[in-house]
Amino acid sequence: MLLRLPTSVSETQEYLTQGAVPIGGATLVWATWQRDGFPEHAMSLRDLPEANTIEPETLGAAVVLNRIDDRVPEVLRRAASTVGTGAVRRTATVGGNIVGSTLRCLLPAALVLDARAVILEPEGVTETDLAEVVAKRQLLLSLRWNTPITSNYVKAAAEPGGPSPLVVAAALHAVAGGGTLLRVAVRSEDEVFSETAAYHGDAGETLSTLWDGSLGRLPVPARELVGRQVTELLARPGGR
Ligand SMILES: Cc1cc2nc3c(=O)[nH]c(=O)nc-3n(C[C@H](O)[C@H](O)[C@H](O)COP(=O)(O)OP(=O)(O)OC[C@H]3O[C@@H](n4cnc5c(N)ncnc54)[C@H](O)[C@@H]3O)c2cc1C
Repeated sequence: MLLRLPTSVSETQEYLTQGAVPIGGATLVWATWQRDGFPEHAMSLRDLPEANTIEPETLGAAVVLNRIDDRVPEVLRRAASTVGTGAVRRTATVGGNIVGSTLRCLLPAALVLDARAVILEPEGVTETDLAEVVAKRQLLLSLRWNTPITSNYVKAAAEPGGPSPLVVAAALHAVAGGGTLLRVAVRSEDEVFSETAAYHGDAGETLSTLWDGSLGRLPVPARELVGRQVTELLARPGGR
């Protein structure tokens, strides 16, 4: 296997056009490759500056999960800190989690930040939404978002042999022209739900709007957790 380590976007684009397979920390692909054979041509973004940024409104795809700190919003930091074991977090990357994993604990956090995916295609760098990058498995360079007023994230304990654990992510955003908007994303029984509701100072009213949408279909334990998370978030001083 020829492993490329591009240091510029143009070099990355060249290897992408040549068919190099993206690789993050190889926590998922290694076992498959050992079983089915290694690709001839692979590419890691670990030396590409654009894929290694950790800033208040940007997170690079090659960033290793345990490097995600308080430079990014709480929701993303907490999501990263709950992935797998310490050994996994020391190796696994943002790109591998969002694009390559099935659990994708970072996805609900990115959804409530209304994050955009910065991707590289053979034609060049472009932005797309998260659903598209997940569906088409495009080469992710980074995530970009606007700083929320406040945010939170909780992951319930996993039941052995059961579905992936319940996750609730929430973020409150200022709206251009005035007002605030709450975004909530929930992973329940392997399905991801996401909703938005205006917040005018009344948490009960905002929750009612959420239940009128897709979150109303959630099972009772998930609804209870959403209720607790949203109430806690909106009670914060910054939430008003
Ligand atoms: C023991 C264990 C526990 C885990 N627990 C959790 C958990 O609780 N929550 C959770 O969400 N995940 C969990 N995972 C999955 C973990 O998040 C993934 O292993 C990890 O995110 C994959 O990252 P990686 O960088 O190692 O990807 P790799 O194994 O290198 O790649 C995985 C896939 O992603 C693709 N890929 C990598 N980078 C990019 C990119 N920049 N653009 C496009 N495609 C890319 C690769 O081509 C490949 O198809 C667990 C994994 C293990 C092994």
